[in-house]
Amino acid sequence: MQTIRGFRDILPEHIPLWQKVEKEAIFLFESFGFKEIRIPVLEKTELFARSIGEVTDIVEKEMYTFADRKGAKLTLRPEATASIVRSYIQHKMYATDPVRKFFMIGPMFRRERPQKGRYRQFYQIDAEVFGIESAFIDSQLIFLLNELFKRLGLTGLSAHINSLGCPDCRPSFQKALLNFIESKKDKLCENCIRRMDKNPLRILDCKVTGCKEALADAPATLDHLCNVCDDHFNTVKTTLEQQKVDFIVDKSLVRGLDYYTRTAWEIQTTSLGAQSAVAGGGRYDGLVKELGGPQTPAIGFAIGFDRLVEVMEQVDKSPGTNPLNLFIISLGDKAMKKGYHWSCELNQLGVYTEMDYRGKSMKALMKRANKLGAQYVLIAGENELAEHAVILRNMNTKEQVSLAVETLVPELIKIVKK
Ligand code: ATP
Ligand code: MG
Repeated sequence: MQTIRGFRDILPEHIPLWQKVEKEAIFLFESFGFKEIRIPVLEKTELFARSIGEVTDIVEKEMYTFADRKGAKLTLRPEATASIVRSYIQHKMYATDPVRKFFMIGPMFRRERPQKGRYRQFYQIDAEVFGIESAFIDSQLIFLLNELFKRLGLTGLSAHINSLGCPDCRPSFQKALLNFIESKKDKLCENCIRRMDKNPLRILDCKVTGCKEALADAPATLDHLCNVCDDHFNTVKTTLEQQKVDFIVDKSLVRGLDYYTRTAWEIQTTSLGAQSAVAGGGRYDGLVKELGGPQTPAIGFAIGFDRLVEVMEQVDKSPGTNPLNLFIISLGDKAMKKGYHWSCELNQLGVYTEMDYRGKSMKALMKRANKLGAQYVLIAGENELAEHAVILRNMNTKEQVSLAVETLVPELIKIVKK
């Protein structure tokens, strides 16, 4: 039996990097006032169709959707924002305090063509802020991402930012865009033609080379911003400059989800080939209302956890693994019983201790202790037990001391847990 295409095991030797990222992310989220939220992996299909947009790649082609045994249409979550918005509304969080900051870490599912940095089950570290319209929050989220990547030792990342405007500036932009698209119609793919009426903005996100070329000079939202959106975007830029966060204004960045308004961004890397985005985010001031809540400004981002780890693997080859503090060599039944109880007690007290239960010889067990990288080895045979003293060997210096059985555990802790 094998995993299904695009799904993979993350094996123990890769986990230290995942945990390192998680630890730094949680530390930063907590310092910035984010609370963890856990949402289901399965939701009604309608939630994603309505929020991400019917005419988007995710909803049209990538979702894992199925009918359950009673015929309800369900979807494995392709992203977290929709579910977190649903939760915000469902639990009427806006009523007690509209200002909320959440983060979540977990798997997402999209049926895309698998390749390096692109999987069908992948992981995101996601953050969302509700109830704050101020551009300071837009800057702060980009600042937070920048800080996280800095702490993880990553360089060569750049923040691409854009403003997608609001419902006030959309009509003038859409008109200009449609005119432009009309003039390039013969150069566009079928998919783009089909989307012209339904969702012209999505055409700007088309990955087909011919379309990309034809749309190189397409009108940009940035040139059609209303005064309020323009001010908002200027504040984002000046705040980032003041905080020394590097960014590139990228007029062509539209992002693949319909709900975005105003600031949108992506953190890109040059070290992953085609899969260059390690994180993406944006403001979505209309979504809470769209899904049945009160008008609430909101903004968030998602980090591609798998891709982030792949970038880190290029610079951080050996994150600390948990070293084996002590290996107990018990020879004979009596010593085995004693050793077992000592090992449990030491494990309980936070000393990483291993034993071998297969009745192997002294020589084989020393070999195993070496293989596991044990810092200390405790040798307990029938003779040692008869004399109420066992031997502790420092595997580094090769020094040996004799320890009294009666006070063994506290003595071991003093020496081993230094
Ligand atoms: P892309 O343009 O690479 O398809 P996206 O815009 O679809 O990315 P988002 O929906 O913004 O991605 O998700 C945020 C991040 O999640 C991305 O920047 C990326 O790092 C990661 N991501 C998205 N899809 C996948 C996938 N199939 N496998 C691994 N990581 C992914
Ligand atoms: Mg995508």
